[in-house]
Amino acid sequence: MEKINRRTFNVKLTQALAGAALLSHIPLSYGLNSGRQDKKLGIALVGLGGYAGGQLAPALLKAEHCYLAGIVTGTPSKEKEWMDKYSIPKENVYNYENFDNIAKNDAIDVVYVVLPNSMHAEFCIRAAKAGKHVITEKPMAVSVAECDAIINACKENGVKLGVGYRMQTDPYTNEIKRLVAEKPMGEVQYISSDAGFVSGNNPDQWRLNKKLAGGGALMDMGVYAIQSSIYGAGANPVSISAQEFKTRPDYFKEVDESITAQMKFSNDVVGNMFTSYNANANRLFVSFRRGWAELNPCHSYGPLAGRTSKGEEIKFPFERYYQQTTQMDSFAKHVLTGSTNFAPGEMGKRDIIIVEAIYKSIEEGGKTIPLDLGDMGIVKV
Ligand code: NAD
Repeated sequence: MEKINRRTFNVKLTQALAGAALLSHIPLSYGLNSGRQDKKLGIALVGLGGYAGGQLAPALLKAEHCYLAGIVTGTPSKEKEWMDKYSIPKENVYNYENFDNIAKNDAIDVVYVVLPNSMHAEFCIRAAKAGKHVITEKPMAVSVAECDAIINACKENGVKLGVGYRMQTDPYTNEIKRLVAEKPMGEVQYISSDAGFVSGNNPDQWRLNKKLAGGGALMDMGVYAIQSSIYGAGANPVSISAQEFKTRPDYFKEVDESITAQMKFSNDVVGNMFTSYNANANRLFVSFRRGWAELNPCHSYGPLAGRTSKGEEIKFPFERYYQQTTQMDSFAKHVLTGSTNFAPGEMGKRDIIIVEAIYKSIEEGGKTIPLDLGDMGIVKV
């Protein structure tokens, strides 16, 4: 492990603080909280499955600008368990049928949709119509048309919209963005991004059901590879071609198993990405004119790890940090103070445009599909 001397430590600390701007557990003495409002936003989680229970609810216990105020579940047996565990009052508990009554509940400011992918649009739109700010898990929805419907519903009802892209406020991701923007190793020329895991032997899970998931590995892990390709390149792709590989067709009956895609970006960077439900992969490689940087792991819950061609470890002086706390605090602060929304709906829609282009290319035998995204979804930090 790299020895961090005082100067390196300070440089890295400054970078981390600047990049991660909202690490809620950083002591106030670091001066991050100027302009902070005292109100904590009440968040209601919709869908109490693995991610809501395993990551989001525990992360909300550590948040500074928001807290777990309510739940929406289709499983009555979960109600008492969650009410007891997180001190949630009965009046803040909803099911999928009476969910729209949430409009009358002032304790809920934000609805966070953590359901199977094809249910995101319906619940985001119902939340917006109820006058609640919305966070939707990734992928934002299963088609560009659904993304548009969510964006429009939020606009029409004057509520804010964010996507659950926890990497966008991760300090390691922000260090990559800094290297790309400040160019200490020159311009980026090539990127490579991989995101995949081996799906266990459960053919009945919703992730393998096209109607519920919208697609396979690409919809699930592929959006991470698309995201890191873009922050690794520092620009949106202008063309993409893709191939699909299936080695377990009996298991992946309805959805894609593994996909590779090649991209050219608007700044002439070229790159490729890989996503899979049948291989473990978790890496971003960025090649600059005079060196390289790599994050590995790159897309998991953290802490991430990385290094550069200079032999430096990309490492921050945090024993443990919570991506989801930072992500939700960042969105809450956006709602409360108008600070930057690091994962807006437009970013989620852009990624689904790319997902649709990848599926189109595969359908057309790997044909190169042009993309006209401009700066869509690029958030200047
Ligand atoms: P899960 O299967 O563990 O939970 C899904 C929840 O939806 C369950 O509570 C289930 O009861 C409910 N549900 C309602 N209707 C359902 C139906 N018809 N079929 C199946 N379940 C139904 O899934 P998860 O891993 O919690 O994923 C939920 C969402 O969160 C997905 O969109 C996924 O992509 C996203 N996710 C994001 C991350 C991340 O790191 N940002 C990680 C995991 C999952």
